[in-house]
Amino acid sequence: MSAPVASLAVLSHAARCRTHCPYCAYQCGVVMSQPGGGAWTVAGDPQFPVNNGQLCIKGWTAAELLGNPERVTTPLMRTTAGKLAPAAWGEALDFVADGIRRIRAEHGPEAVGLFGSGALTNEKAYLLGKFARLAVGTPHMDYNGRFCMSSAAGAGNKAFGIDRGLPFPVSDIADAEVILLVGANSADTLPPIMQWFDRQKANGGRLIVADPRRSATARTADLHLPVTPGSDLALANGLLFLAIEERLIDEAYIASRTVGFDAVRSAVLTYDPPRVERITGVREAALRTCVRWLAEAEGAMILTGRGPEQQSKGVDTVLAFINLALALGKVGRPASGFGTLTGQGNGQGGREHGQKADQLPGYRLIEVDAHRAHVAKVWGVDPASLPRKGKSAYELLDSLGPDGGIRGLLVMGSNVAVASPHAGNIINRLKSLDLLAVCDAFLNETSAEADVVFPVYQWAEEEGTMTNLEGRVIRRRAAAASPPGVRGDIDVLRELATRLGAGDKFAFHSAPEVFEEFRRATAGGTADYSGITYDRIDREEGVFWPCPAEDHPGTPRLFAERFHHADGKAKFHAVTHRPAGEEPDADYPLYLTTGRYKEHYNSGAQTRLVSTLAAAQPRPRAQLHPHLAARLGAERGSVLVLETRRGRAEFAADVSHDVRQDTIFVPFHWGGRGAVNLLTNPALDPTSRMPEYKVAAVRVAAVRPPTDQEVPA
Ligand code: SF4
Repeated sequence: MSAPVASLAVLSHAARCRTHCPYCAYQCGVVMSQPGGGAWTVAGDPQFPVNNGQLCIKGWTAAELLGNPERVTTPLMRTTAGKLAPAAWGEALDFVADGIRRIRAEHGPEAVGLFGSGALTNEKAYLLGKFARLAVGTPHMDYNGRFCMSSAAGAGNKAFGIDRGLPFPVSDIADAEVILLVGANSADTLPPIMQWFDRQKANGGRLIVADPRRSATARTADLHLPVTPGSDLALANGLLFLAIEERLIDEAYIASRTVGFDAVRSAVLTYDPPRVERITGVREAALRTCVRWLAEAEGAMILTGRGPEQQSKGVDTVLAFINLALALGKVGRPASGFGTLTGQGNGQGGREHGQKADQLPGYRLIEVDAHRAHVAKVWGVDPASLPRKGKSAYELLDSLGPDGGIRGLLVMGSNVAVASPHAGNIINRLKSLDLLAVCDAFLNETSAEADVVFPVYQWAEEEGTMTNLEGRVIRRRAAAASPPGVRGDIDVLRELATRLGAGDKFAFHSAPEVFEEFRRATAGGTADYSGITYDRIDREEGVFWPCPAEDHPGTPRLFAERFHHADGKAKFHAVTHRPAGEEPDADYPLYLTTGRYKEHYNSGAQTRLVSTLAAAQPRPRAQLHPHLAARLGAERGSVLVLETRRGRAEFAADVSHDVRQDTIFVPFHWGGRGAVNLLTNPALDPTSRMPEYKVAAVRVAAVRPPTDQEVPA
């Protein structure tokens, strides 16, 4: 067993430090330095083989978060006058622990909820899940990754028996002959990944992009399929129909490596090109070109993003694309296969280690007795004492307050007031809580409703591991000293657990200490990290899970020989198109879809504080086609008042030919009147419980000129 604590001491608070960007799942390597002992700077790390020194604008400017004047540096407690005011750590911790104890005594442990984040390190995600089950004793623990990755995860588990976003390193992209990218605008969301697409193109490869918008990524494509929002499943089935009709499927591969194709063959029989063209808006010629390019390539990849996943049929939609990849015989071959591009910084690791309502560490399941027994043994408790499965993220948030049954909530690193669908409902529910405690580095729309805010370390001040979108486990290193008064999330959990009578299970003072127990908890699980050490990560530029022993090389590529089901085969699933939870009608005649700007990350709680990013994208704009704008009497900069059945919000008009005439696109990085999630539909996927962020029916209730304050600078 290695001794990571010693090696950390050398790196902590160094004037130059290799670590990783605070934001997305690409987890670019950065080199932080402090020239002359002044302000920290961030540069791309040329040694890290994923980004090779490249960063996007968010990474370049991330150092501005350190020393930011908006930083919370003391615990805050709500006064009787209703304001958040500075408090001592002991007072704030006592208040929250007393509140949890009181709620438990009066209403039972199920009346306390925990909400985590795909931005937490593996150590913190693990510890928060353990805290929910052992210190609080509640089943209601979920996290914002449910809003991001759960449909892809559900489909991967069903088809392959394992959920790892990319089953190969990103560098394989360069060698793929053809790539179909579905609902992913990587040029804006993961800019440094485009170096691999550029190499692919330079190698003679082709890129196909399916997206309702002519996005920055679609503009680089050889073929753009402008799908109607919510119709991706029909697109996939239509492509498979053509593959069968044109005898492009790989019968030998299907026979030797898969099960269940006959049912899928029957299910796609009705997806003839005229029908698919009617549903998706994609012309037959484009469908035929797409499937021929994919089938004829030796190595072809299908990669999905949030477009097909954030739907009330997200799991089935991803399964439909997996069906296509399997039928063409592409999965498990070199520079070929199916993958999904994870979004949040630790979106991959965050969904493996017990933050989900149905899960225990190592991707074990909380309802499986053998899984409960393994984890209970590591934790030193009776398996029967572990709670069962709890509520999923939206259902948990929708249960806050006296009528929902969850009266106390601890939120760690998630801005649910902006990020949740039907956000107006969630804000009201946050207000109705008996106790809301938030751990964060900055105030945001969620902590605005809190009774207590615990100020915690941010990215460059803490140690830990993250797992990037390839399944590569990497080191987050402490470069900068935290401001006085700030503590780590690990410290908050230890102190609360002690006050709740479970201190002996949470006696951790550092991430490496947590990691050692975490490794044992994952041993033998699907996501087995037991062979990974901090030293190995340093030596090897990350280690890919599963890695069941210290002499195991890790697993950069999955599926070359077998899939993770017991029989070693991939499973086809017969899936059929169905309408979105809400389709345009006479009252709400347009599609609303949502996404990201390259300058902002998720709810914008961090990036809106970075001056360069705020100046580049100061507010959300509603993108609409010039024909629609003309019909509405809107022009660039007009204020559009958008309404759905759940709420109303206002945006500046961004008139562009890059969006379909029946669709309005709005980014989701803002709260207040510009919060698009006031409008989005919480219709949930039946398997993943993913809300339908990507499709809602909307109307333009009013168009008005901007006020002096609203005119963009
Ligand atoms: Fe890299 Fe993502 Fe950070 Fe941009 S936001 S620098 S793509 S990790």
